Amino acid sequence: MVEKYLLLTPGPLTTSEKVKQAMDFDYCTWDDDYKKITQSFRHSLLELAEVKEDEYTAVPIQGSGTYGVESVISSTISDDDTLLIAINGAYGQRISEMADVYGINHVDLVVDEREPITLEAVTEYLDKYPDITHFAMIHCETTTGILNPIEDIIPYVKEHGIVTIVDAMSSFGGIPIDVKNDKIDYLISSSNKCIQGVPGFSFVIARKESLESTKGMARTLSLDLYSQYIEMERNNGKWRFTSPTHVVHAFYEALKELNEEGGVKARNQRYQANQKHLATGMEELGFKVLIDEKWQSPIITSFIYPTADFDFHKFYQQLKSDGFVIYPGKISHVPTFRIGNIGEVYDEDITNLLQAIKEIIQ
Ligand SMILES: *Cc1c(COP(=O)(O)O)cnc(C)c1O
Repeated sequence: MVEKYLLLTPGPLTTSEKVKQAMDFDYCTWDDDYKKITQSFRHSLLELAEVKEDEYTAVPIQGSGTYGVESVISSTISDDDTLLIAINGAYGQRISEMADVYGINHVDLVVDEREPITLEAVTEYLDKYPDITHFAMIHCETTTGILNPIEDIIPYVKEHGIVTIVDAMSSFGGIPIDVKNDKIDYLISSSNKCIQGVPGFSFVIARKESLESTKGMARTLSLDLYSQYIEMERNNGKWRFTSPTHVVHAFYEALKELNEEGGVKARNQRYQANQKHLATGMEELGFKVLIDEKWQSPIITSFIYPTADFDFHKFYQQLKSDGFVIYPGKISHVPTFRIGNIGEVYDEDITNLLQAIKEIIQ
């Protein structure tokens, strides 16, 4: 038996009792009631994105978040196109790896992991590479917890007639995003991050006009975004292959709870309060935050090792036995560890975590 703990990771994260209970039944994958649930959550996702059904659609894809990103990259960009990828962490890098696997022309704009992507840097690349047709960037780079300013960059890129792709995996539902005004063609997120469901599928919020021009571009059968969209439209919410039925019901419940909490703005306030409490408390205990406060997301925080001989593994084990699971760091320049504050995590939990850390380091 695993000892129970609070997940302070950026997903999977700690979910509510009701979300877990929603999985306590074996549902049929092609039954009409189930298809209605799929249609209903697709609609709710558009509401969260504040976009309308005549212009946008929400398409779920089985698998983790990466499958959703890979679905967009592999099935909406042709061999004649060129993709500019803005990279300041592992998730931006992952898109570059995908482009390599599929032989997609791409240009990588690589920025230090501790710095945000800027409009200046993107402009410079667009001027230098006039062949660019597609642009991809990460909203919250979970690698460090840095929040990239998509609202400054994407509308400008779109003005150049470029198709825009945003990996908003760890921010959608927890940070308000104005998909239409920001001119996003494809926004990708997943079931197990700020919506606070369990892992099992990702989803793409796509501008219909862009998606509908991608018929036949897919390089794989199962990650074909256009075909999944068409099947769902023609068959009232039918997924193309076996869908994660338990996960979908948990997600449906999680969306209800997001609404009950007061929507994205209210959730964002709770996350911000959690993050501020965490960062301030940790600094009082002598830990330094990696990212400048100006760019720090309310999702996950990187802390620099307090001493050269800091034993993360031991620290992790001690915290785990106190009922908290945190995350190792993921960057090369500086040794760090990360603490997430999304999910069913409240002020009291942060207080208890800080108390546990205080006792460990004393
Ligand atoms: C979590 C995450 C992903 C997807 O990761 P999976 O492990 O495939 O779910 C992609 N991008 C970002 C920014 C993420 O935080």
